[in-house]
Amino acid sequence: MATADDPTGNLHVAILPFMAHGHMIPIIDIAKLFASRRGVKTTIITTRLNAPLVSKQIPTTAEIHIELIRFPAAEAGVPEESETADFFSSTAQKMFFHAAALLRRPLDAALAKIRPDCLVSDAFFPWSAESAGKLGIPRLVFHGTGYFALCTAVCIRVHKPHKNSDSESFVVPCLPGKIELTPSQLPESARKEEEGNPFTELVREMAESEGKSYGVIVNSFRELEPNYADFYRDELGRRNWAIGPVSLSNRRSEEKAGRGGRGTGESSSDCLKWLESKEPDSVIYICFGSLADFADSQLKEIAAALESWGGSFIWVVRKDPRTESESESEEEWLPVGFEDRTAEKGLIIRGWAPQILILEHEAVGGFVTHCGWNSTLEGITVGKAMVTWPVAAEQFYNEKLVTAVLGIGLPVEAEKWVRGTGDDEVIMAEGIEIAVRRLMDGDEGKEMRRKAKELREMARMAIEEGGSSHSSLSDLIDELKQRSHV
Ligand code: UDP
Repeated sequence: MATADDPTGNLHVAILPFMAHGHMIPIIDIAKLFASRRGVKTTIITTRLNAPLVSKQIPTTAEIHIELIRFPAAEAGVPEESETADFFSSTAQKMFFHAAALLRRPLDAALAKIRPDCLVSDAFFPWSAESAGKLGIPRLVFHGTGYFALCTAVCIRVHKPHKNSDSESFVVPCLPGKIELTPSQLPESARKEEEGNPFTELVREMAESEGKSYGVIVNSFRELEPNYADFYRDELGRRNWAIGPVSLSNRRSEEKAGRGGRGTGESSSDCLKWLESKEPDSVIYICFGSLADFADSQLKEIAAALESWGGSFIWVVRKDPRTESESESEEEWLPVGFEDRTAEKGLIIRGWAPQILILEHEAVGGFVTHCGWNSTLEGITVGKAMVTWPVAAEQFYNEKLVTAVLGIGLPVEAEKWVRGTGDDEVIMAEGIEIAVRRLMDGDEGKEMRRKAKELREMARMAIEEGGSSHSSLSDLIDELKQRSHV
């Protein structure tokens, strides 16, 4: 809308990210995609401590602004620093959700000030549909997951098959394909519905607010999951636009290295130099996203599996980088002498890895993933086969897409949610080694890599001009412009 602030008549898209890496990273990519189109201006609305994390991920040339809102730490009774994605990764998430709900008034004030033409906000802010409604602008929901998981979640929420199932596993009702799950793989919000679980209430509010929203932006591409894209639109009645894989909005190496706002150029180039010395498809990359927190006993099993497999690996562990004075033996989670024995073969990254740069390297032939949607799609986008090891959230659904639907992954046979408490059931080294060996050394793995590479090509075509995701974003922008008379 042409206003006194913006006489150019650009479409002004406001974006409200949820402060967790798995939500923030892709929504910043979405901001970049919008901003890359002619006549679109984008504003990311975020809090003071998150702003540097956001600005590190946007090129200075992009038409993206940052509008600060105050994080209501005092009102929520949480520490000031709890507003960052890193805090969310490490501490009480329920407390964080409580504080996030109090962002409503600051958001209303920011929207009244910047007067955008539409709001793209994370599904975890269900009340933001009303904030947009007050201004008479459309709100688009961003869930952060793909069609398969979105459809599975609705089918389970509506039909509650786990409640009526006498057996260990059940087939997800109504969902295309025969998809089997067990009750222990479902999110707590579904499993403990009647126990007053706060997430159940949030999920209910999220579903309700979707009805009041203009539509859904999906980080996927139609060719990847056409049956589920159709089911979502035709059977579940959701207006939506698939505009992914959004990670492909990062074209230059610096952008890829800076994704997440935490990596350093130096650590990325060390890592790439190491990969250069390896044969194509010989390295397995192991990373469980930004939140998964394994007990030391589980990490030791992973180490034992890698050592007895004997191939090359990059293993990312959510631990602080070692200081110079700390010796390897002080790290309780690692078998003594592990790094010396595997010095030629392996690289352990403590903290944050430049995931996209690693994954896209031709030396990487497989990915052990927790099946967070970003990681899953990033793996698909660069044509990697996977060992699937879901730990929480909708990751067990994503695992089924990778293994049962796309046939590009082998499960490590994780059966239930992991909390990182030390009480979790540990997956033993032998099982991990078998899955890694099958993926990396056998014909089965070779065939999966072949299929994954086909998907990589489809992903690339989807975001190029004339591709399905590119066209879908163009359609959305045209529609929003018409609606706003821009
Ligand atoms: N990521 C990364 N380096 C790391 C760990 C994670 O770049 O060391 C990025 C990864 O590329 C992905 C995001 O963080 O974009 C994690 O999102 P995902 O949905 O996979 O998992 P979550 O962290 O939400 O469990």
